[in-house]
This record gives sequence, C-alpha cells and structure tokens, in this order.
Amino acid sequence: LEAVCNKTAIDLAGKMRCNFPAFNGNRLNLEKHVLKSLAEKEKFDDFITYITNPRTQTEAFIKAEVEKYIFKDHKDEAVNVLKTNIDDIKTRVGEALFTATKKVQTSKEGDTDMWLNEFSNVIKDELTFDNICSENFSDINNFEFLKEEIKKGFTSITEEMSSLSLDKLKDSRQKSDEILINQLCNCCWVKCPFCAAVCTNTIEDHSPDDHSAPFHQPRAVAGGKWRNTNEMCIDFCTTLVGSDLYFYLESSDRSVPYKNYRDGGPDFATWRITSDESKLAYWKWFVCHYKKELESHYKREFKGKGKIPDDWKTIKKDDINKQKKNLQ
Ligand SMILES: [Zn+2]
Ligand SMILES: [Zn+2]
Repeated sequence: LEAVCNKTAIDLAGKMRCNFPAFNGNRLNLEKHVLKSLAEKEKFDDFITYITNPRTQTEAFIKAEVEKYIFKDHKDEAVNVLKTNIDDIKTRVGEALFTATKKVQTSKEGDTDMWLNEFSNVIKDELTFDNICSENFSDINNFEFLKEEIKKGFTSITEEMSSLSLDKLKDSRQKSDEILINQLCNCCWVKCPFCAAVCTNTIEDHSPDDHSAPFHQPRAVAGGKWRNTNEMCIDFCTTLVGSDLYFYLESSDRSVPYKNYRDGGPDFATWRITSDESKLAYWKWFVCHYKKELESHYKREFKGKGKIPDDWKTIKKDDINKQKKNLQ
C-alpha cells in the first residue's frame, strides 16, 4: 500500500513538473507565478511573508497548487495514476508467483527457500516480502502451499488497495508537494540588502558568483526610508546605485555612496546590482494598493521624498502581469 501511494505521489509530482506552468520552467518562472498568485489573492500578510521570507511563501504556494491540482482540478487524472499503479503491482505479484513456481518446479533441487528467493527477487523493487505476509514460512516444505498462502495474503492487500482513495496520498511517506519543494526550492534565497528582492540563482551556495535579481523593488517594499525622516524611500535600488546619493549602514552609521555600494560590507559586496531604469509596474501597483497597510506595518509614511508619483496610481492590476511576461 505504502509502495503504491509513494509511487503515485512521485508520478504525480513528475506530471506536474512537466505540465504545470508554474513548475515546468526555470526559477524565474516560478517566481513570476508566486508573484502573480500574490496579486490575485490580495492578502497583505502573504506579501509580507514573501518579502521577509520568500522561501516560506514559495513553499506555501507549491503546497496549495499541488493540493488544488491533485484533489480538485486534475482529480480524475490523479485517480487514474493511482489505479494504474495498483494494477501494475497486482500484475507484477501475479507474475512473480507464476515465475517462482515454474522455476522451482523445473529445477531438481527446488524447495521453499528457492521459491521464496525467486519470488522476493522479482518483486523486490515494488514490495518487501513483509508487506505481503508477516508469517514465518521457514518450516513449510510445500511451496504450492506457500504460494497459496501468499496469494491469500496478497488478495487481502489488493482488496484494501481497491478501496484506496486519493486521501491516502496525504498520509504516504512520499508527498507530491514535498518532492516538488525539494526539487524547486533548493536554490539561493538571499535577499537584496536594499529592497529584499530575492536572488534568482538556482544554486543554493553559488559563491564566488554574485547574487543577482532581474527585478528590484522600491526600497519601501522592505520598509526602506530616508535617513533622519519618517519618509519612505520609494526609489528602486537599481536607480539609486546610479545616483550620487549615499546610504547609511545601520550598524556603524557610516555613509556609503550608492555608486560604491559594495563597500557597505559583505551583505552588499556579494550582490551585483546594475544601474538601470527598469521599474516593474508590479511593485508600483503594490505600493499604491497597499499604501496604508505598508505605512502602518513599517510605521513610516509615503510623504515628502517618499510621496508616491501620480502616474504610479494609474497602474491597473491587469497591466502588471503583462509587463512581467514581456520582461521575461
Ligand atoms: Zn534591490
Ligand atoms: Zn544568490
């Protein structure tokens, strides 16, 4: 039973990896889908989780999508995979019974030990002998009898299997969502020290290669503000690193020119942030849409130098996914 559930979980994970749009591309593609889903659901707390701990939010996204795929949208497909795997195991055990018996019958020294060996050998990839029957057969000499006993044992298992439902998958050792999380989340999760944009490198520890992200965010997304004020910094770090402005290190109060941001210490030195004017509509929409929530969350305000430009306010939610697609 366990074997059937595990195999089904693995098969379904494989299917999703091939067919499901969020899981069948690269890291950036997954990132895009996570952001898209955040915008669709419009839960501010989820955004904050994403900003503070992107991995947690990404794992929650994968879990939710797998659940939806297996138990809702593609339920029939999942049931079919489960059925196929049950039939497979039935066939294999049937074949194993037959092969083992035939071997022993045609051999001169055929005995129960040989029979058991043969039988276990054929099915060892699928099941362990204990799965089928826990009784001790060592004192049985008649393998025909043994075969019948095993058949009986197996029949009760197949009956149980036939009543196996998808819900059982939730208890199996291998779970589709965990398999996918393992495959998709073993990558770099280091955040930009300015804006908290997550590094999209697919390797967890990729030094000496710099961290990098294709899109940065306004610093305010991560609560960035102007020094000695309570005014949010709505500038993108990609703009700031091309400017003549300075930033201040929290730890030492030392000022560092944005242009030489790598001098700010190891957290800064390991990032490659290229100066450009790419400003993702997504984050402009986010800042406008959650202005109040961000202000109360970070206890800072969008005013003065942090006043939100009027043209940001015209961005509709429909526009933001389009831009993300194009930029890719
Ligand atoms: Zn950044
Ligand atoms: Zn990285």
